[in-house]
Amino acid sequence: MAAQQRMNYCNGKWIESESTETFSVTNPADGSVVSRFPKSTEVDTERAIRAAADAQDTWAETPGPERGAVLRRAAGHLENRADDVAETLTREEGKALAEAAGEVQRAVDILYYYAEKASDLAGEAKAPSGQNSRLRTVTEPVGVVGLITPWNYPIAIPAWKAAPALAAGNAVVLKPASQAPTVVHELTECLDEAGLPDGVLNVVTGSGSEVGATITSHETIDAISFTGSSAVGELVRESATETGARIQLEMGGKNPAVVMPSADVDEAVTIVGSGAFGVTGQACTATSRAIVHESIYDEFVDGLADYATDLDIGPGLEADMGPQVTASELEGTLDYIERGKEEGATLEVGGDVPDTEYDGHYVEPTVFSNVKSEMQIAQEEIFGPVVAVIPVSDFEEAVTIANDSQYGLSASIITKNLSEANRFIDEIEAGVVKINEKTTGLELHVPFGGTKNSSSETWREQGDAGLDFFTTTKTVYLNY
Ligand code: NAD
Repeated sequence: MAAQQRMNYCNGKWIESESTETFSVTNPADGSVVSRFPKSTEVDTERAIRAAADAQDTWAETPGPERGAVLRRAAGHLENRADDVAETLTREEGKALAEAAGEVQRAVDILYYYAEKASDLAGEAKAPSGQNSRLRTVTEPVGVVGLITPWNYPIAIPAWKAAPALAAGNAVVLKPASQAPTVVHELTECLDEAGLPDGVLNVVTGSGSEVGATITSHETIDAISFTGSSAVGELVRESATETGARIQLEMGGKNPAVVMPSADVDEAVTIVGSGAFGVTGQACTATSRAIVHESIYDEFVDGLADYATDLDIGPGLEADMGPQVTASELEGTLDYIERGKEEGATLEVGGDVPDTEYDGHYVEPTVFSNVKSEMQIAQEEIFGPVVAVIPVSDFEEAVTIANDSQYGLSASIITKNLSEANRFIDEIEAGVVKINEKTTGLELHVPFGGTKNSSSETWREQGDAGLDFFTTTKTVYLNY
């Protein structure tokens, strides 16, 4: 398939960047070029912000059900082309085709979900204290919002930010990650075909330091929703402090799964293995620490090593586990594996580039045992298929170690003991708590976000809560 040259989407049209520079998106499975994109400039980004500002009032005045109808039609268009989009997603990001298909379906479901919510955004009425009066709230959009997204869920995350933003009447400037922007173009085409008015959504590709930084430092931007690394999240926070923009930051994780003696060990292995190695370990909610009671430790480690060995690694279009997204992500994972060995952890299985016929960014699923909580492989986000197994002697120690992290995104416990399960819910420092489930996998109609360095905490994404960030409330006292 020939690589397509893409453009920016601005004011309802696909337009050239003022820059002649482009960048290529390559297939991490074999190095082939998937698409080419403009390396846009500050001028391109400002043009997109102006288009959004010009379109916002009219979109906000459009009745909610009409805004919802646009999202519903876009969902239908995306559903119709879901197979092709899933294949494109695998070709540009690398994840296994079934995972990509699940992600595209999630984007469809999110569009349908917020299509309905657009009709519910009027505000609420309350009983006033005086007679002949009315007391109510009016929900209004925030204004012009900047969305900055990562590569690892390249269509679901843009969808779960853009859909509530649009449903609530905001105008959007979206900057996708440069590793996997093609599926954002597919989503944009669906919204365009669905009749989204010109300027309400604008998509600009290019570097974080130019396009991203122009969005985060621009006075016209009222709110910025960012998902990505904690390091870049901090830059976004600093920049937004200058302009006063509202911010939502969703960042890294070092998610623990605690395995207690009452667990069925085979079941625990499947829960931890799928949480650690699914999407090649490149999930913010990936299980990267297994904290396992000493009474079942050896059996668990052996089981997890077998689970990892049985995974079939290769191009996402055919294998269980695809490659890492780029050579530098692969290098980062291999560096952490070396550090784990140097720190004295035991490499049980994996740790290397597999011997495959393909020229891609592959790494073996890797299990370290005898890990101590202070080791770097137990503290830092690796963002690859590497899991650190830490032995503990009781529940208290397990929770202390689970909380011994700068991050607090998702956490799981595998136990049949009701008291342990409930104490874990109370004591764990995480935004998402799972009992007998893997740390990955989210439902779209409940809030999602983390604590500590995983999140800016003030706002949640998804569900009803996902609308809060994109709305503001006016309170009306009416006396007649
Ligand atoms: P990243 O921080 O490198 O990039 C994220 C986005 O920010 C990209 O679009 C990038 O171009 C842009 N960017 C880079 N520099 C910028 C700047 N100076 N100003 C503005 N924007 C800038 O992250 P990534 O490598 O794309 O994604 C992986 C990270 O995302 C991991 O840390 C992962 O945990 C995190 N993540 C978090 C969640 C969550 O919901 N908590 C979900 C998925 C991924």
